[in-house]
Amino acid sequence: MSIRAVVLLGAPGAGKGTMAEAVCAAGPWMHLSTGDMLRDAVRAGTEVGRAAARAMERGALVPDDVILGLVNDRLAAGPADAQYLFDGFPRTLEQARMLDAAFGRDGARLERVLLLEVPREVSEMRLSGRRVCGACGATYHLINLPPRAPGVCDRCGGRLEQRPDDSPETVGRRWDVFHRQTAGLIAYYEQRGVLARIDASGARDRTVAAVLDRLP
Ligand code: AMP
Repeated sequence: MSIRAVVLLGAPGAGKGTMAEAVCAAGPWMHLSTGDMLRDAVRAGTEVGRAAARAMERGALVPDDVILGLVNDRLAAGPADAQYLFDGFPRTLEQARMLDAAFGRDGARLERVLLLEVPREVSEMRLSGRRVCGACGATYHLINLPPRAPGVCDRCGGRLEQRPDDSPETVGRRWDVFHRQTAGLIAYYEQRGVLARIDASGARDRTVAAVLDRLP
């Protein structure tokens, strides 16, 4: 047995993290989010975290070699037959090629790429209203998924915060970065015949059902 992976591809606010959490809650898929790994590294003050913090605050991408180092370490530490949902990785053609090379060496398989499609207005509305628990990481939305008490996490009572890169000007930059640096992956994976497009602009449960339907 070897590692199998599915990539969730999409602009900021497309719902990659939300879909990955919903799908992985029941197993056997394991959620691998490079954004979460980087935020953990920033919080822990590691060398990677210090190197990544400025790029993340600006809504820019973290260098490819840093990302590949993180991902390789995570894959090496997990089970040899794990099934991963990659969320936010790869984000550049270089990362996609490096992933192909690593998978080719190890006999791992990238089985499918699910492209979550949303219009820019939906992405901006989702990100501007997103709030995250500083203690446990649970995610809310001021309108679509409000907490029971304003500013307080239902799950652990922690304080809800806005991600620094969800501010309006940084959201605009992240959208541009997606189109400049990540959207090229759509053609790359389409040519390989592994891409499936999903309309991710509607209700959460409908998109979860569509994602489950297209998993290998
Ligand atoms: P995310 O949580 O996926 O929205 O990622 C938050 C931020 O982390 C991004 O805006 C980038 O600064 C950085 N990041 C996450 N994944 C990657 C990646 N694969 N390549 C480069 N930067 C990344």
